[in-house]
Amino acid sequence: DPLPACEPARLTIDLGAIRDNVARLKELSGNAQVMAVVKGDAYGHGLVPSARAALRGGATWLGVAQLAEAVALRDAGIEAPVLSWLHVPGLDFDPAVQRGIDVGVSAPWALQAIADAARRLGRPARVQLKVDTGLARNGAYGADWTELVRAAGPLAAEGALDVVGVFTHFAFADAPEHPTVRAQQEKFADAVRDVERAGFAIEVRHMSNSAATLTQPSAAWDMVRPGLAVYGLSPVPHLGDPASFGLRPAMSATANAALVKRIPAGQGVSYGHTYAPERDTTVVDVPMGYADGVPRAGSNVGPVQVAGKRYTIAGRVCMDQFVVDVGDAAVRAGDPVVLFGAGEDGAPTAQDWAEATGTISYEIVTRMSNRLPRVHL
Ligand code: PLP
Repeated sequence: DPLPACEPARLTIDLGAIRDNVARLKELSGNAQVMAVVKGDAYGHGLVPSARAALRGGATWLGVAQLAEAVALRDAGIEAPVLSWLHVPGLDFDPAVQRGIDVGVSAPWALQAIADAARRLGRPARVQLKVDTGLARNGAYGADWTELVRAAGPLAAEGALDVVGVFTHFAFADAPEHPTVRAQQEKFADAVRDVERAGFAIEVRHMSNSAATLTQPSAAWDMVRPGLAVYGLSPVPHLGDPASFGLRPAMSATANAALVKRIPAGQGVSYGHTYAPERDTTVVDVPMGYADGVPRAGSNVGPVQVAGKRYTIAGRVCMDQFVVDVGDAAVRAGDPVVLFGAGEDGAPTAQDWAEATGTISYEIVTRMSNRLPRVHL
């Protein structure tokens, strides 16, 4: 049914696909646990329903960037272990201690702030130390790593915190042959030795994002930490599409034609008339635009399926709508439009959109806005 609600456009999220993708990733990782990464509103798929679907598929952990995202999971009643890893000085860590949320720590200031929260609340905080093995982004690098491990010792001895994990993140997992892939694994092995020598009771050691989960099974350690692949998209499109890895895209962005009309040859279409048909034609007005997350960079290049047939957007993408030239096809107002989906019946995918607009499928799904209702199936 193209019209689950009388909204002009919508996102449909196949929760069964999320569940099955997690089960597949778990299978690919031997006995490793799966931490499903659900930051960024589960890459645009809806935080809580997606997290529950991932847990149904066998994920035993959830990963987010911000503490507020972890708190939202707890407030929804989700009790599975959760790790959040991106914080700034001044953040109140009390909610992490109160709700049993693991905090990923990249610097001594955060250890101190978390220990303060633990002392206030009279129970130890759970922390996981994040080592920068060569991404040069978040995580403690070089001598800072040594200092971070050292600083954790007295706080753990005092009972203010339990160091339960160590983790890092790849820079080049999408290029399995790149020398940094091996170098980061070696540095991570050293970092694991550092925390083990410090005497912490480590529960989880993890480094693999989606690309590493799919291409470096030897890097799985105790747990893999995929995001994109959970949603059925390939982080390595040059190596294989989702189906080739046994994954299925979960998100479809669809709409219904708002208006269909004939225009004469030469009539410029949409703002700035950047497109004009060469002959008399039928144009379809689609009620979806950049306020919904459709990239304006898709003007004149973005793929779209209208009433079962594939076209390219004609003219500029506007805030609320765009236009498709369907020639003499018999399209009627209300007919189904697919911006992207699982790629069935020749419809475009998020990867097709990424290629047409010079970005990655991560950005295509994550940018879809909250004006679009999310229908979870
Ligand atoms: N782990 C960390 C620390 C991340 O920042 C991310 C996302 O960027 C992921 C895992 C998941 O990455 P991906 O979506 O490539 O699997």
